[in-house]
Formats: sequence, C-alpha cells, structure tokens
Amino acid sequence: MEKKRVLVIGGGIAGVTSALELAKNGREIFLVEREPSIGGHAASFCCKATDVCNKCSVCLVPERMKEVGIHPQISLLTTSEVREINGEAGDFRVKIVRKTRFVDPDRCTACGICSEVCPVESPKAISLPYPGVVPPAFVVDKDRCLRLQGQECTICQDKCPTQAIDFDQGPQEIDLDVEATIVANGFDVFDAREKAPLGYGKYPNVLTGLDMEERLLKDGAILLPSNGRPPQDVAFIQCVGSRDEHIGNGYCSKICCKYAMRFSRLLQYQNPEVKVTVFYMDLQNAGKGFGDFYEQCKENIRFVQGIPVEISQVSPDQLAVRYEDLSQGKTVEESHDLVVLSVGITPRKDARNLAGILGVNLGDFGFFDGLTQIENTSTNREGIFLAGCCQGPRDIPESIAHGTLAALRAVRTLT
Ligand SMILES: Cc1cc2nc3c(=O)[nH]c(=O)nc-3n(C[C@H](O)[C@H](O)[C@H](O)COP(=O)(O)OP(=O)(O)OC[C@H]3O[C@@H](n4cnc5c(N)ncnc54)[C@H](O)[C@@H]3O)c2cc1C
Repeated sequence: MEKKRVLVIGGGIAGVTSALELAKNGREIFLVEREPSIGGHAASFCCKATDVCNKCSVCLVPERMKEVGIHPQISLLTTSEVREINGEAGDFRVKIVRKTRFVDPDRCTACGICSEVCPVESPKAISLPYPGVVPPAFVVDKDRCLRLQGQECTICQDKCPTQAIDFDQGPQEIDLDVEATIVANGFDVFDAREKAPLGYGKYPNVLTGLDMEERLLKDGAILLPSNGRPPQDVAFIQCVGSRDEHIGNGYCSKICCKYAMRFSRLLQYQNPEVKVTVFYMDLQNAGKGFGDFYEQCKENIRFVQGIPVEISQVSPDQLAVRYEDLSQGKTVEESHDLVVLSVGITPRKDARNLAGILGVNLGDFGFFDGLTQIENTSTNREGIFLAGCCQGPRDIPESIAHGTLAALRAVRTLT
C-alpha cells in the first residue's frame, strides 16, 4: 500500500516530534529545515541539572534529533525552504528550494580533516556547529570562508577524502506531492537591544538568557566577560520583551521564570557563595512540581517585585541597576557584577512571508492563528496544521505535546 506523504516545515523539537509521530503512524515524511541542522533553538541549550535533575527537558531534544536522522520514513531536507504550495488537503503540490550548503551531508563522514586544514583561525570557516548535529555534516561559514569571499583557497575541498565539499553547487528545486502539511517554524528570541536602557550590547556584563544557555553548553560555567572571573552577585531581570504592551508584546513567554530559577540554582550549585536576585513582575511558576521548586529557590535566592528600567556601568566590573521597589513604593539603585536579561519568545520576523506562501492566517501578536483556544493546531486552510512555538510561547514539553497533537490531527484528517 502506498504510504501517505506529509510535509513538516521546521525541524525544531515541535517539527521533529510531529515527524516521529507521523512515521509511527505509517506516513512518509519530508522534513524541511532552513538551517544546515535540525534541532531549532533548544539544540543549543544546556542541561540545568545540579546534584539533581531540574527538569529543564533540554536532554529530550538530541535524543529525538538522532531518531529523526536515522528514521527510514523521514527524508531530511536541510538548508531548504518552501516557495509555493498549491492544491488542497489530500493533494498539495509543493515547490521547495534547497540552497547550496557546500558540504554534501550524504558524503560527509564528519572526520574533521576539512576543519583541521582550513587556514582561517578562531573560529575555523568550516566546522561542526555542535556535537550531535543532525545530519552529522560539517558546515561552511559563508562570511569567513576565503573561497566564498572571492579568494583562490580550495584546501578543504582538495583534502576531503569523500569529495563531500563542492563550492560550485547551485540551488536545487524540488517538487513534492503531499497530503498534509505541518507548520513548525518556531520563534525568534526577543532582541534585547530593543530595550536600550538595559545596556545589552553596550555593557559586557549584561547577558541574556540565550547567552547563558549557549555559554553554559559550550564552557560549562559562566565567567564575567569583563575580567574572566566567576560572578559574585548576579541579577536576573524578568519579562524582557514579554508582557510589555509598549512594544506590542502583551503576552507572557511562559519559559523565562523557569529558566531564570534553574540558572540561579545552577550558579549557586557551581559557586555556593554567589548572591542571586531575581527582579520580577509576576512569577510564572505553574507546571508540575514547579511550585515546590520555587519554594526551594526562595531559601537562597532574593526575589524582588519590581522591574528595573535602567542599567548603567559604574566601573568596568560593576553595574548599577535602578528599579521601582513596589513593596516600598520608592526607586532603589543597587549594584551587581552580572545582569542577565530574561528574554522571551517573539513571532519570527519572516512568519508573515511563510503565512502568505501557505495561505494561512496570523493571529494574536503575529503568531500563527491556531483557530481554537484548546488545541490551536488547526489553520484556516484545511490540511495545514500548526505545531509548537510558531503558534505561541511554549516550553519543550508543551512543544512536544503540541507536535504530537498536530501529527495526530493530520493523520485523522487523512484517513
Ligand atoms: C532563552 C531561552 C531559554 C529557554 N530554555 C528552555 C528550557 O530550559 N526548557 C524548556 O522546556 N524550554 C526552554 N525554552 C523554550 C524552547 O526553546 C521552546 O519550547 C522550543 O525551542 C520550541 O520548539 P519549536 O520547534 O516550536 O521552535 P524552534 O526551536 O524555534 O524551531 C523551529 C525550527 O524551524 C526552522 N525554520 C524556521 N523557519 C523555517 C522555514 N521557513 N522553513 C524551514 N524551516 C524553518 C528553524 O530553523 C528551527 O530549526 C527556552 C527559550 C528561550 C528563548
């Protein structure tokens, strides 16, 4: 019997989950991902365990990526994007453009010789973005590669034992017939530079939650960018880019309070002397077991109700944080050596473009319109479903649940 084919757009944890669920239900899946690897945001996040697991769920991501990478029913189309979709539920015709990635993932064995011989230093112009990348193939950084900057260099190409590198390869057009589509193109992280008074990009010791994720994954610890020493007094500022009507983001991102508390515990586990303050508006501590976790956090973490509006640098290693203390009704200024801005989830800047290609509507705040309040997996176009943060903020477990639900909806409509 011919297997029914489904297109999944976006290889973050939501799209990966939909693809696996569809495969379990006997479908053939084409997973289109615009980047060279699947995994989405959470693939570059760190485990936040201390002596115990703090249930951040980040470990669920590599497991599922690996499963997708080897699944016989799932075809991965990386560095690819959908350009057109015509037809109707049960009979969609899709045009996909696969941009050149210069390294053929089917030939690359990830041996690393290309990176060793690359003459560009710190970082190399060809590298493995992180261990466990799927597909396991090296990636060329177009802005650093001498060849792609117009120079004569072909050293990596000449040395590659499997002839996986090809600088002359052009984009490729792929036509597919599918019966349903799941959109899982995810989100953008709020750009903290939009909140100029908070000093991100200006003061080195102001980081974001995303910086913390990436640095902890890479280095296992946080050091002050100004002097390379461990921080002693850290402030987290919540709701940066979320619950903020002035910038049109009136919604809660649902993830920032949890990651801030988990980071706080991890910093104190790594250095019990470090002082941590969390400035918040309202704490989002819903979720199984999270209320108890918050109670434990309160023992060693100072929680202050009041959101700082301005940060200034008073010395190379000290920042002054000014805020309205709501409990005392007055403005207070205090110093910290590291400030972490808890940035949230925003709709992707290119969401409107994809919505136009697919003929589906955007809803509140620019996320995809999920039509119902409970499931939020349907769109105005029959046969096209939504999964994960493209529809609204969700953490990893919720994105997995949503991805599963979207797949089951697609299966149900097609049978
Ligand atoms: C700073 C920060 C820390 C967080 N920490 C945690 C945590 O500790 N625990 C937790 O549970 N959650 C955490 N989250 C939330 C978590 O990141 C999300 O729940 C999860 O990433 C959602 O997955 P997704 O697949 O919906 O979206 P994404 O992760 O954004 O994946 C979407 C994928 O679609 C691809 N894509 C985009 N557009 C296209 C297109 N047009 N065509 C093809 N592909 C496309 C993208 O390249 C990407 O691979 C955090 C979020 C932030 C911002």
